Amino acid sequence: MKINDKSGVITYNASKSRYDEMKYNRSGNSGVLLPAISLGLWHNFGFVDNFWNSQEILRTAFDLGITHFDLANNYGPPYGSAEENFGRILKKDFLPYRDELFIASKAGYDMWPGPYGNMGSRKYLVASLDQSLKRMGLDYVDIFYHHRPDMETPLEETMLALADIVRQGKALYVGISNYSADQTEKAAELLRALKVPFILHQARYSIFDRWVEEGLLKTLSKHSVGCIAFSPLAQGLLTEKYINGIPENSRAAKQFTYLDKETVSNNIEKVKALAEVAHQRGQKLSQMAIAWLLNQQQVASVLVGASSSNQLKENIIALENLDFSIEEMRLIDKISKG
Ligand code: NDP
Repeated sequence: MKINDKSGVITYNASKSRYDEMKYNRSGNSGVLLPAISLGLWHNFGFVDNFWNSQEILRTAFDLGITHFDLANNYGPPYGSAEENFGRILKKDFLPYRDELFIASKAGYDMWPGPYGNMGSRKYLVASLDQSLKRMGLDYVDIFYHHRPDMETPLEETMLALADIVRQGKALYVGISNYSADQTEKAAELLRALKVPFILHQARYSIFDRWVEEGLLKTLSKHSVGCIAFSPLAQGLLTEKYINGIPENSRAAKQFTYLDKETVSNNIEKVKALAEVAHQRGQKLSQMAIAWLLNQQQVASVLVGASSSNQLKENIIALENLDFSIEEMRLIDKISKG
């Protein structure tokens, strides 16, 4: 940014070429097309973050054809602040484009004190979405997720709450996140009986984290539900930023994040070997990690995070080479599972 930067005061006009490069994939067998790369606001959009940078990332995303923004009640910090900042940016920049956007929120993790601010009760889900809508200044979200399974609340209650939220017009579609294959099977049956459009499962999935391959992807295929893969870069590990140590300001260097230095050092040899494979393909490691996910069964979109607009610009180049040879796939498996 320069001292005389005017981007904050000049009205934002979205790029006219915003739909030229992005690919859009159908989520399951629904009517919804999602950008192959979506943007998540878990980190870098809270009150602790630089508002101007958050705005710049969102503008860049939309200009690149990223139409899907993923939020949750507790994104920040502090909780709620990512939705509040997103609401401010939406009001300033994106209101004319509301119908071009697919906006998500979620509830399921700890949000407010007392017995009604966590897990999966009808009481919590309905109240939380009402709060999220207020914070974002929206009448409805495009998709509302139950953020994680709750073993103590009957699944029937949680799914009925999702169905009623759709019937009240507060969400157009529903999703679940972090549910196992078995839990997803039960949820899908209930939602089918309730005639609710259940179109997405949000699951952690990357070259390093394959748990979804042990049954979940098959269940999603059976029910024609799409998968949106979160933490596709293993929170930054599947990039080249940590190869020469832990840079200041990176997620692993910061406090209050879920990427610790030990995870970085335990995996760095694999990262180096994977980066070699990426370079042979003419890609950076982050680009290969995204392209690899887009080749997996049921994956409709890869949900990335970004701490700068340049990271997004770099990651989007993944779409230029989505094809893998059998040998490359084998090598990636060997390195990551070895
Ligand atoms: P990623 O794995 O994509 O990690 C993103 C981070 O990687 C960035 O913030 C940045 O971190 C680093 N990075 C990205 N691109 C580059 C690059 N080209 N070069 C160097 N570093 C790069 O995803 P997240 O873990 O952020 O998760 C993405 C989204 O998924 C979240 O925002 C949220 O919406 C969703 N999510 C959902 C969960 C759920 O339970 N449903 C749980 C977690 C996430 P740095 O700060 O180091 O620059």
